[in-house]
Amino acid sequence: MEKVVIIGTGCAGLTAAIYTARANLNPLVLTGTMPGGLLTTTSTVENYPGFTDGIDGFALMEGMQKQAERFGARIQFGNVESVDLTTRPFALAVDGSTVRAEAVIVATGAGHRHLGLESEARLEKKGVTYCATCDGALPMFRNQPLVVVGGGDSACEEALYLTRFASAVYLVHRRDQLRASKIMADRVLAHAKIKPVWDSVVTEILDVALDKVTGVRLKQVKTGAETHLPCAGVFVAIGHVPNTQIFQGQIDLDANGYVVPRRGAETSLAGVFVAGDCADHVYRQAITAAGMGCMAAIEAERYLAQSAR
Ligand code: NAP
Repeated sequence: MEKVVIIGTGCAGLTAAIYTARANLNPLVLTGTMPGGLLTTTSTVENYPGFTDGIDGFALMEGMQKQAERFGARIQFGNVESVDLTTRPFALAVDGSTVRAEAVIVATGAGHRHLGLESEARLEKKGVTYCATCDGALPMFRNQPLVVVGGGDSACEEALYLTRFASAVYLVHRRDQLRASKIMADRVLAHAKIKPVWDSVVTEILDVALDKVTGVRLKQVKTGAETHLPCAGVFVAIGHVPNTQIFQGQIDLDANGYVVPRRGAETSLAGVFVAGDCADHVYRQAITAAGMGCMAAIEAERYLAQSAR
């Protein structure tokens, strides 16, 4: 039986791993389907303290993993399919076998929000993508017009990154004002290659019949006018949804599926702690996830010490 199992290896999970390993709890850390979390798909992380010139997202996560392993954390590739938190010890179904744990730290992060269009699903990886850093340099996008959907920091970051390859980047946003931080918005709006398309939503991605992206159908939300914009790729950057489906009905989640943290990193169930983007729809930063991972680890350590008495 495990003392503590950490689900997730983003900033939150790996920081919890460093702290629980240093507390001699010999944590088992399950990667999920995306080892290193969403940050591994980011280019340069410029706001993580201590890295004067920024650091590559993948390198940052690799460093955290090695640091956790140095103190004895066991990182295991594995996807938690379901959990039973009604029994003690807790039971986790991991790739067909059962892992039992006295304490669990939920650090499952969040995934990309989809537009929800049928054409989006049909053309995913055929010109529709959720990660400019991963896919932007592909030959099919070079010197072509590209569309980025969204108005937040992610959309701005994607748009700026894509200017290296695209002939033009159309930033399609459903309002007439960006949600992004001022510094990002200013950079985007000043860029000669980025053309904002305000008050518009994508109603269809073309062309499913050709099995590749050739353009988007847009609707101007104020006038209802429909237009066609030719492009070779659609980069969807409209936020995230928490990866918490397996905890539904077992710990308190809010209406959007985020775990509701109490008193720091506790959940509604003793022995289950939470950290990072799966519990945070406000800050969602690498540093806040790491900080919460630290809190969850310290609280798990205290819980286990009290239970042992
Ligand atoms: P976000 O801030 O929630 O922005 C999502 C954007 O997508 C919003 O502009 C939203 O429009 C739009 N949107 C949502 N659902 C939509 C839909 N169904 N159809 C069309 N548009 C839709 O998400 P984010 O940009 O991923 O950022 C998340 C957090 O990470 C933020 O705290 C951000 O500051 C942070 N972040 C920071 C950096 C950086 O500092 N370098 C980079 C990336 C992310 P509305 O504006 O109308 O709601």
